Amino acid sequence: MTHIPAIRWNRLLTIAIATILLSLGSNHLQNLRGVASHVPEKALLAQEVSTIWEKGSFPVENFQSYTSPFGYRASPIDGRRQFHNGLDLAAPRGSYIRNWWGGRITKLSDNTACGTSVTIESGSWSHSYCHMEGHVEHHSSGVYLIDRDGGIQLTLGQDISVGARIGRVGMTGRTTGPHLHWVLKHNGNYVDPGLVLKEMFKRQTAS
Ligand SMILES: [Zn+2]
Repeated sequence: MTHIPAIRWNRLLTIAIATILLSLGSNHLQNLRGVASHVPEKALLAQEVSTIWEKGSFPVENFQSYTSPFGYRASPIDGRRQFHNGLDLAAPRGSYIRNWWGGRITKLSDNTACGTSVTIESGSWSHSYCHMEGHVEHHSSGVYLIDRDGGIQLTLGQDISVGARIGRVGMTGRTTGPHLHWVLKHNGNYVDPGLVLKEMFKRQTAS
């Protein structure tokens, strides 16, 4: 795996998040309040960002655009109203996905609409990454997510550091184009990843 120097990566991160901020409108925030009013977003964010999120990683390399927000929408597949439980980040197929926050791999899957996916738990948060390249293999020694062309192998139960490459953008599961579908939960409740990225951006540009 090639290593991107930290300084260059931080600059890419800032550009990527600034692009996202431009595309996140107030309508989106209004939408969130209706969907997840049980989550005290403001208090939650203030409490969490002070220490940890300063070091959070933007979740995808070669980010192009923010293609679908968190919340209710018409399905791009059949037009029916549905709850979109994550944020879609478009990037060219094969772009590396990076772990948002250090934690432990608690789920590896390749047989749902989410496609080849990994879920990581970090304290009271869980974060999932969908539609990745590769597949899951079950062996007597453990469960593995394998993407040979990308040089990726994950093991269920493994600890994984912030910013580590954990997969590549693919087309597995239910998707109309290459993108990362990124899902965040706090104590089991969905949280808008766009809000988290906004707070990260504020913290990281202030420091
Ligand atoms: Zn999505």
